[in-house]
Amino acid sequence: MGVLARGRVAHGRRSAEWVFTDRLGGASSGPYSELNLGGSVGDDPACVADNRRAVAAMVECTGLALVRQVHGRDVALLRAIPDEPPAADAVITDQAGLAIAVQVADCVPVLLADLAGGRVAAVHAGWRGVVADVVGAALEQMAPAGQVQAWVGPAICPSCYEVSAQVRDEVADQVPEAAAWTRAGTPAVDVRGGVLAQLRRHGIEGELIGGCTFEDPHLFSYRRDTTTGRQAGVIVMREIVMGEETS
Ligand SMILES: [Zn+2]
Repeated sequence: MGVLARGRVAHGRRSAEWVFTDRLGGASSGPYSELNLGGSVGDDPACVADNRRAVAAMVECTGLALVRQVHGRDVALLRAIPDEPPAADAVITDQAGLAIAVQVADCVPVLLADLAGGRVAAVHAGWRGVVADVVGAALEQMAPAGQVQAWVGPAICPSCYEVSAQVRDEVADQVPEAAAWTRAGTPAVDVRGGVLAQLRRHGIEGELIGGCTFEDPHLFSYRRDTTTGRQAGVIVMREIVMGEETS
């Protein structure tokens, strides 16, 4: 309950564990039911706090280091859970044991692991984030080309994501791969396709996880429901204890 998909990778002395949540099994009710992680969507703050603790516990942590997402290009380097989340759309850490997360409901959560360099990141990108290349901004603070692993979580698919012709053109100017059409033949944006293309420019093959938020009733979708909750992409890095006697 609550986990859409999870995985773990290891390299050398470090590992990373990642989770994409769904909306099942939390404390929230009504339009936020059940596992809403968004703190500014109108839900009961006590329920959100409970849900965040439950998700942190999925990766054996006590809390989540979050940012205040603003559809920009800023990357926040966090080494502890901030009292006041900084405004940023990517969060990066070099601290083992700190769970970092982004919250989404149609935008795409992207999780990055640079285990050789000792950094993990969580990135939030909608069409504005694709235009701004916020994924590229996070990668600039990580390992050289090809050495980062990337998981691209659930988001609204282009068949469901109608936008104005102006937005589609703006996206197409920056990332042609993200320009798309809905199933009705109207202008659309493929946010996951755009992010995959941006990862490829850094030599990274992102792994697609999950499907379309608009079509999956187990996921929050802002376009579908307007008043709704947020799911998350969460990642935590760990140092592998070698079990050596240190005397
Ligand atoms: Zn769809």
